[in-house]
Amino acid sequence: MAYHPNRLEHARSLQDQIVAWRRDIHIHPELGFEEYRTAKLVAETLNSLGIEAETGVGKTGVVARIGEGKPVIGIRADMDALPIQEENEVPYKSQTPNTMHACGHDAHTAILLGVATMISELPEDQKPKGEIRLLFQPSEEMQDAEGKSGAMRMIDDGALEGVDHVIALHMASGTEAGKIEIRSGYAMANADKFEATIYATGGHGASPHRGTDPVFMFAQLLNAIYGITARRINPVQPAVISIGAIRAGNANNVIPSEVFFNGTIRSYSEETRNQLHEELEKAFGVVKALGGDYKLEFFRGYDATYNDPAVAKLIENMTADMLGEDKLEEPEAGMGAEDFGYMTKLAPGAMFYLGAKYDEKNRGHHTPNFDIDESVLHIGAALLLETALQLQQPNGK
Ligand SMILES: [Zn+2]
Ligand SMILES: [Zn+2]
Repeated sequence: MAYHPNRLEHARSLQDQIVAWRRDIHIHPELGFEEYRTAKLVAETLNSLGIEAETGVGKTGVVARIGEGKPVIGIRADMDALPIQEENEVPYKSQTPNTMHACGHDAHTAILLGVATMISELPEDQKPKGEIRLLFQPSEEMQDAEGKSGAMRMIDDGALEGVDHVIALHMASGTEAGKIEIRSGYAMANADKFEATIYATGGHGASPHRGTDPVFMFAQLLNAIYGITARRINPVQPAVISIGAIRAGNANNVIPSEVFFNGTIRSYSEETRNQLHEELEKAFGVVKALGGDYKLEFFRGYDATYNDPAVAKLIENMTADMLGEDKLEEPEAGMGAEDFGYMTKLAPGAMFYLGAKYDEKNRGHHTPNFDIDESVLHIGAALLLETALQLQQPNGK
């Protein structure tokens, strides 16, 4: 079924309002599980549209159920900011020190409010046949003390119950404004963390032969670790291990007795994920061989996000119909992570990227000068709603 010809026009009529919401949220950013003001803005806006909103879902999330019965199509937007001091000098600059919407979640929230507005304005014959569930999710960037992020908390609270498909978008500040990227299959990686300490005797820097040196052991171990992806993992399986922090010693003439380091482990498949953990453990045999000891701890992070091929295809077709074939950008495979993967595990779905490159400056996600081209926001609303309505059709995919 072709898309509704008025969809993009309808969304464009809300562009200024979506921008106003985005700026309001951008000025008042809140960190994960502290999105009180944002949740209030969301709930009040939904109420003003005549849509009932359930607050306090997954701690600070908001859920709105529009329409009744099957199928149930979920649309997710994350609402949290990051602990970053904004450097942009713009009228909508963050007013909260060391807190900034530097990933575009302000835009995601505003776009989903745009979708809610569009649904409330649909003529009777175009209303959703089943239910459309709006999922305003807290804390995508951070996990709470029990290691749970916003998506997990919302799932725990039943927000995904009965959902047949779930979709979402993410701003892409490095992609040309107005272009859409959608991957079929794995789109985001499993992201685990490890922490390790090497123990040795240390000693005087002038007499290395009298003790054992954890710095030397670390140097050998580093090769063994970086050899894992090159020599142990199937070359057609994406896998990364990166060491991010190393701490050892204080004085130039003292061999320390410990080296601490940590890193991230990324993969797509569960099999590769497990193999990376096993191989990393094995690599530490180098330390034992050199007379040292170690402690190695793994911290399981987000699961990979898998885009259902049928839903991804639908989004691709919608984009081509609505915006033109040339707006589809070949997505680059990446090893980033997203907790949306927990939702697509329960209900086949997909996340697409909305290109929003602002200017020629590097405005990468999670940097103090992150910013987006706001003129594309309505495109996100039109695509999300059209995809959700298409998924409601009997042969929607
Ligand atoms: Zn982010
Ligand atoms: Zn993000």
